Amino acid sequence: MIGRTNFDFAENLSFEHGSPGRSGVDLPAVSMPDAAVRDLLGEHARLESDALVLPECSEPEINRHYTRLSRWNFSIDTNTYPLGSCTMKYNPRINEWAGRLPGFANLHPYLPESRLQGALELMWDLQNYLAEIGGFEAVSLQPAAGAHGEFTGVMMIQAALKARGETRTKMIVPHSAHGTNPATAAFFGYEIVNVESGPDGLIDMAEFKSKLDNQCAGIMITNPNTLGLFEKNISEICKLVHEYGGFVYGDGANLNALMGMARPGDFGIDVMHFNLHKTFTTPHGGGGPGCGAVGVSKALEPFLPIPVVAKGKGYYFDTHRPQSIGRVRSFYGNFGMMVRAFTYIRELGGEGLKQASERAVLNANYVKARLKKYYHLPYKTDCLHEVVFTHKNTLDIAKGLIDRGMHPPTIYFPLIVSGALMIEPTETESKEELDNLCEAFIEVAQEDPEKLKGAPIHTALGRLNEAQAARNPILVYQHV
Ligand SMILES: *Cc1c(COP(=O)(O)O)cnc(C)c1O
Repeated sequence: MIGRTNFDFAENLSFEHGSPGRSGVDLPAVSMPDAAVRDLLGEHARLESDALVLPECSEPEINRHYTRLSRWNFSIDTNTYPLGSCTMKYNPRINEWAGRLPGFANLHPYLPESRLQGALELMWDLQNYLAEIGGFEAVSLQPAAGAHGEFTGVMMIQAALKARGETRTKMIVPHSAHGTNPATAAFFGYEIVNVESGPDGLIDMAEFKSKLDNQCAGIMITNPNTLGLFEKNISEICKLVHEYGGFVYGDGANLNALMGMARPGDFGIDVMHFNLHKTFTTPHGGGGPGCGAVGVSKALEPFLPIPVVAKGKGYYFDTHRPQSIGRVRSFYGNFGMMVRAFTYIRELGGEGLKQASERAVLNANYVKARLKKYYHLPYKTDCLHEVVFTHKNTLDIAKGLIDRGMHPPTIYFPLIVSGALMIEPTETESKEELDNLCEAFIEVAQEDPEKLKGAPIHTALGRLNEAQAARNPILVYQHV
């Protein structure tokens, strides 16, 4: 690692550090007699400590071990992260401050409503902000991720159809959709009706019209679509679906392109998920909780999952909603995400959110302008917050970027173009960072293709077998 001598990739496992008997904590002796423990927990409840194979390290040893590992991490705090569709924007630190306020962080889910007034007020306000930003009648904060929001939304569509005495069999999902859309529709037993994109990268209207009928529960549509292009026929699409008695599910993962400029509810979208962990700067990428809040039109409002956070004399969980689809989760374990998103919205305000979207669009177009000489641009239509290029050696390009300190863009998605490289720089990158990113992209495009086949070389491990960890997982440390 030239110039990066701080990196030591030869880090042992925690089990291989330390020495028998060494410890970083002093636990008090157990004061309960063994018999009492057995009475309480049953015969096999208590493990003898020497039956457990645990690392035996001092505090400095274990602290240094994890600190060294953390330096291998690629994160939004260390580098640009242009992973398309994922909106890897910087997470402002003030969100963390708010999320950790003891009054929020230490809440217990079984506290009575009278003790939760501040938290409920925050949820109520956040619901209203999102409803205003998206142009919806109401919002539920229950779903824990975008895909979970899709699940909730399609369940509401199905419930609304059922309330009219209808069962429909099909769901239209354009070919450009994120995989979670057809997966969600299939989960509910709908036959997936595909619609191709036209030469401009937008939904082919003639094909769409030919496939729409009164057996379609509706359409699941992303706008801007996964090519980063604005579906300019969106209002007409919604109108036609409604004429056939169907509903429009909006995949809101790309809302970062629209805030303060256009409202999906105004296009005629009936239900949409917000990815608070994308657009509204709650951390993601680490596998922690997200929040896939859903906004609904008036027609779907009665079907919202219970409880709905409501305001009467005080704030309360409303569970008396006869048409509700029921609960889609038990507790608000992701409440911290709501605090962070609320903080972000309050910090930026309406003007600030609009600016964020404008700059996200500007940044993507800057990258597009700088790279179009070096990568093939399959659609010439002006892009919004992300740009999709293609290349014949996409995988090698992605691996080569790792050696240049860049996180690769999303690759091989969307599927409608072959060898996609989907770049979403987000608004939080400065011009200097965008230039670094573009120069890395240009350098790999000009690199000897044979040499790139060996990339990455500046990582702990080189080119990995992409399927091995899933096909042959080794999950247990073998103590020898
Ligand atoms: C991220 C994403 C989803 C799914 O959201 P999760 O929060 O990851 O479940 C759906 N559609 C699109 C277009 C996305 O980018």
